[in-house]
Amino acid sequence: MPEAFREGEMIFRGIPVSAGVCRGKILVVGKTKRPILRRTLQEGQCAEEVTRLEKALVETRHQLQDVQRKVSEAMGAKEGSIFDAHLLVLEDRTLIDEVLRAIQEEKVNSEFAFHSVAERYAATLAAIEDDYLRERATDMRDVTSRVLGNLLGEQVEVNLGNLKEPCIMISHDLTPSNTAQLDKRNVLGFATEVGSKTSHTAIMARSLRIPAVVGLKEISSKLENGQYALLDGFNGLVILNPSEQTLFQYGEIVSHQDTLQQKLRDVLDKPAVTLDGHRVLLSCNIEQAADAQEVRASGAEGVGLFRTEYLFLNRERPPGEEQQYLAYRQAAAALKPLPLVIRTLDLGGDKLLSHLQMPAEMNPFLGWRAIRLCLQETDIFREQLRAILRASAEGNVKMMYPMISGLRELEQANALVEECKTQLRDQKIPFDEQMEIGAMIETPSAVMVAASLAKRLRFFSIGTNDLIQYTLAVDRMNEKIAHLYEPTHPAIVHLIKATVDAGHKHNISVSVCGEMASDPILAPLLLGLGVDELSAAPPLVAPLKFLIRHLKLSEAKELAEFALSCESATEILARCQALARQIAPGLFEEK
Ligand code: PEP
Ligand code: MG
Repeated sequence: MPEAFREGEMIFRGIPVSAGVCRGKILVVGKTKRPILRRTLQEGQCAEEVTRLEKALVETRHQLQDVQRKVSEAMGAKEGSIFDAHLLVLEDRTLIDEVLRAIQEEKVNSEFAFHSVAERYAATLAAIEDDYLRERATDMRDVTSRVLGNLLGEQVEVNLGNLKEPCIMISHDLTPSNTAQLDKRNVLGFATEVGSKTSHTAIMARSLRIPAVVGLKEISSKLENGQYALLDGFNGLVILNPSEQTLFQYGEIVSHQDTLQQKLRDVLDKPAVTLDGHRVLLSCNIEQAADAQEVRASGAEGVGLFRTEYLFLNRERPPGEEQQYLAYRQAAAALKPLPLVIRTLDLGGDKLLSHLQMPAEMNPFLGWRAIRLCLQETDIFREQLRAILRASAEGNVKMMYPMISGLRELEQANALVEECKTQLRDQKIPFDEQMEIGAMIETPSAVMVAASLAKRLRFFSIGTNDLIQYTLAVDRMNEKIAHLYEPTHPAIVHLIKATVDAGHKHNISVSVCGEMASDPILAPLLLGLGVDELSAAPPLVAPLKFLIRHLKLSEAKELAEFALSCESATEILARCQALARQIAPGLFEEK
């Protein structure tokens, strides 16, 4: 990292979530959290403000009509008519007259007047115990934000899938569905105000190999479109107006990384075996069927986690059984005979759908999510189960359930699988009768009943991203408490050990597919605790393999023994860092 920064530069510090360095023009997208400031108008300025408002209202009308037309064409007139309510807000004479009065009598700027009046209307509607009126409040806020965007000259909507030129994207937040849409040719990197290392947006960035920094408070209100910046995804920095010297230093970092990548390429087709002969299974996490193509090239021996929910995002309707079957079959065929572990739908939390009524929740990660949603929306679940079973005839397919919190959920899910199998047999549709079923262990309750689960399953896969959030009660999305999200917390170490012990006692394998598995600093601890398999995003497999080939299992076991007897997360982390840096210093040279 450059030691000092030069004059003219402005530095923003956040959380590095996806490695790499990029530089280029900035594009600020989405709703900025710009405060709506009150300005007192001078004599004679009122007419000008009224004209600005009228222009913004006309512009908003055109934008809404455009969206309405597109939605009607794609989904039908009924869906398009949703925007009638938005258009009506623009025609609400009582509202507009009140805004005009505020401009003329109180002598305030049009955005302040519009925001205050519309927000008062919306708050009144939202407070009434009536679902219809509450929805009107949402419409009103939606329209308000468009009008304000037009008044402030902000870009209301950018087509993320089709950008005009290469840029570094800056925004308050990017949802996983936004990230999945990104035009990879033109997004050099991205930076957001919220988020953390294990938010799904960060996970996607790593899979897409896009350098990214999150948790950059208020950055979107401080930067303007078209400014020039450098984004450092290793150290979590965005540097506005980087000087020649800074650019030179970063040039050296990039060339050091290129050399490291060359070294890593050498291990790709070698086995993941420790110096004392212990074989480790390394797999990939993928988000799309097409990603299965790059699994072998990444040096992995299969897919340990296929996050199928991405098939459901960014579309008008859920994919049916046939469409899913084709996607799963494509991935299974590309990998054959390597295994493909398909995780059933893990919607909810930060992955929301527009086509399924998903209510806003106070605690989405504790709410209607994953297996809970599937056990209620059984039509959607059955379609997926049939699609997975059918794909099992085409390759080495395994299936696992997310977020199992106890035996009842497992039994309910298994009962639905049995129903689907019976149907397929009756219809003479082939599937693998022996297809292995496993579960993700990502709640503390699942660990506590792991022995009961293990008797009924063929494998466990520990989802440390959620296990840590649920055990330590630390929201994995919240950058304000990111420092409390500690993978080496003694509670986590003991929970992993308990899962491994329960799994092995019942002769089933235990893998880790959370982000902890892809961190070369933490991987030795997991192996020392007895984990059989590590599953990571494709670009992160090579560094893991490099590290494993420089490690002795005996060292990993010693580390795990220390961790199991240690009371401090910081000390455990320090020991992990010391071991990793000692055996593979090249991986960790200062960036
Ligand atoms: C996890 O929780 O560790 C996991 C792999 O699942 P996801 O990140 O998709 O919630
Ligand atoms: Mg999870």
